[in-house]
Amino acid sequence: MGIAENVAAVKARIADAAAAAGRDPADILLVAATKMNDANRVREAIAAGVDVCGENRVQEMLEKQALGAYAGAPLHFIGHLQKNKVKQVVGLAALIHGADSLPLLATVSRVAAQRGLVQDVLLEVNVGGELSKAGFSPEEIPQALEFASSLPGLRVRGLMAIPPICTFPEENRPFFCRMEKLFVDNGEKKYDNVSMDFLSMGMSGDFTEAIAWGANLVRIGTAIFGARPTGKENG
Ligand SMILES: *Cc1c(COP(=O)(O)O)cnc(C)c1O
Repeated sequence: MGIAENVAAVKARIADAAAAAGRDPADILLVAATKMNDANRVREAIAAGVDVCGENRVQEMLEKQALGAYAGAPLHFIGHLQKNKVKQVVGLAALIHGADSLPLLATVSRVAAQRGLVQDVLLEVNVGGELSKAGFSPEEIPQALEFASSLPGLRVRGLMAIPPICTFPEENRPFFCRMEKLFVDNGEKKYDNVSMDFLSMGMSGDFTEAIAWGANLVRIGTAIFGARPTGKENG
C-alpha cells in the first residue's frame, strides 16, 4: 500500500481507539516518524493528512528542511538530542519530545533565551527502567519539573515515553498506565513554565493501546512508510 492509504488506515485506527476510550479523535495528533524517508515521501505523508512530522537525527532534519520537506506541517524533534546539537534544533522544532536530563534542559533554555525564544519540550520518562535508555525515572519527574520552572528559555508541555520493545501491544499496558497516572498527577501541581498538555507515547505496534491510556501524540513510522532498512536505526 502507498503512504496515503497507510495514513488513512492509521487515522481510522486512531479514531476507533479514541471512540473505544470515549475520547475525541480530534484531540489525538498523528506524528509521522519520518526518519530515513526522503523529502518526497515526507511531503506525501503531509499531503495525506499527518498532523506533525517527527525527526530523529539533527543532520537528516536539516537536510530535509533545506529541501522544504516539512512545508505544511509542524516539525517535532523526537530523537535523542545531544547537547552539542541543541543550537541546531532550538527554534526549528516546535516541540522537542526527548528532554531527558537536567543538563539538557539547562542547555536548551540557555540557547533559546539567548535568541529570545521559549522552546517547548516534553520530559522523557524511562518508564521501563531500562539501562539502555535515557530519560528521567518516574520518581525524578517532580524534581525535573521544579528545575524546569526556574528556566526562562523553555516551557514543559508534557511527557514522552518509549516503553520496552514488545511482541504484543498489551504487554506495554502497565507502562502506559503508569505514564497516564504520572501525567495526571504531575499536571495537578502548579509550576511556572509547565503546562501538561501532551502525552507522547505509542508507535506502530502499540498506538491503539497508548490511546486507551491517554496518549495525545502518537509517533508512527512503519505503519505509514513501511519497514525501514535494518541496522541503521538510531533512537
Ligand atoms: C522511529 C520512531 C518511532 C516510530 O516507530 P515505528 O515503530 O516505526 O512506528 C516513534 N518514536 C520514536 C522516538 C522513533 O524513533
